[in-house]
Amino acid sequence: MRNKVNKQVLEKISFLFQKAKKTKNNQLSKRYVTLARQIAKRTNTKLPKNLRRMFCHKCNTIFSGKTSQRRIKHKKVSIKCLVCGNYTRYKI
Ligand SMILES: [Zn+2]
Repeated sequence: MRNKVNKQVLEKISFLFQKAKKTKNNQLSKRYVTLARQIAKRTNTKLPKNLRRMFCHKCNTIFSGKTSQRRIKHKKVSIKCLVCGNYTRYKI
């Protein structure tokens, strides 16, 4: 039962992320990410790794060539959000 519900939720979330990626409107894409995060929070589901690393956790902006800067240092990837200046880091 739980697995089934989880699958539906993940489908919904990935759909929202796809929409957020496609739109050129920055505010709209932020809104889609916020909604997806709210759904994940409400249903107690963990976002998959690829989705978790796709957006800024402070301002919910989707990372792209224009909105982020990627650097690899000491076997870690650090992504700087150019909208709010927040850093996201993770190990390779
Ligand atoms: Zn940001």
